Amino acid sequence: MRAAVLYYPRELRIEERPEPAVGPTDVKVAVRLTGICGTDVHTYEGRYHPVGTPFPARVLGHDFVGIVAEVGDRVTSVRPGDRVTVEPSRSCGVCAACRAGAANLCAKWTHMGMTIDGCLQDYVVAPEHYVHHIPPSISDEEAATLEPVAVALHVFDARLPDRRGDETVVVIGAGPIGLATIEIAKLRGHRVIAVEIVPERLALAAQLGADEIVNPRDGDAAKRILALSGDTPNLIVETAGTSQSAQLAMDAATWYGRIIFVALTAVPQPLRALVSKEVWMTGARTGHGSYPEAIRLIAEGKVAVSEMITHRFPLTELREAFELLLARPGEAFRVAIEH
Ligand SMILES: [Zn+2]
Ligand SMILES: [Zn+2]
Repeated sequence: MRAAVLYYPRELRIEERPEPAVGPTDVKVAVRLTGICGTDVHTYEGRYHPVGTPFPARVLGHDFVGIVAEVGDRVTSVRPGDRVTVEPSRSCGVCAACRAGAANLCAKWTHMGMTIDGCLQDYVVAPEHYVHHIPPSISDEEAATLEPVAVALHVFDARLPDRRGDETVVVIGAGPIGLATIEIAKLRGHRVIAVEIVPERLALAAQLGADEIVNPRDGDAAKRILALSGDTPNLIVETAGTSQSAQLAMDAATWYGRIIFVALTAVPQPLRALVSKEVWMTGARTGHGSYPEAIRLIAEGKVAVSEMITHRFPLTELREAFELLLARPGEAFRVAIEH
């Protein structure tokens, strides 16, 4: 069979490979149509690849429709000739995340076209569990664009702290995932602001239901989004995947705004667990409002602070106090100045 193999960034070769073997619970699908996703483009460019590690030869692609060619002995839900798609993520089913219903965060998670070979080849073999029938009312083109809709649905299933009903959803990027997110947000009753620099995509965003459209090329996008969001918390969904779009997400967030990064490439390397583990991260600002409780806890002896004070100095020796703090941080935690 033919397989399109990426050997190095931007170096793709079509080569002959043996057809994959079918295990007892596997389904072999003859691929008919693949939708190219942003992830494939980023992988093709080498944007996910950690510097200094060998580049794996990989077949890209994960969003496709095909016809079942062969099934294993124990497969019952599909038969040869059925029109199907295959979910691209693979999980183990037994790790703690899988057992908690978070299979997308599986300890052994793999993904077609990223960590295992994808669908830009003549045949794909996958466990039956991941194979889904495509009804006749869905065209091949639609079936090969299913994954962005699944991703968008998951955005709204991601655990958001303190959810509110009517929030404004700001979708940055109007590629397939951004557009699908706009549609799902409208279905869920949200007001949607679409942000995109390509005018044709922005027009499509409006056609698919975005209430407001913002083109960052037309001026200060953050200011415009903040004005449109009003003085209530907004939810920002970042799907564009650039550092500028990540900055815009931060700038356009209102107080208590929430940002969901969908595009991994928007997230700086040290923070990528935000996406890969769906980590929740926030900041905390000042102890405002917490003084009465702090006083009570210390008064009741429930919180100890006197141990933190290691030195005392008169005000006249203030300079020595600062020098001590700088010179011996292991010994001087906190210095009290006597006035
Ligand atoms: Zn995709
Ligand atoms: Zn697992």
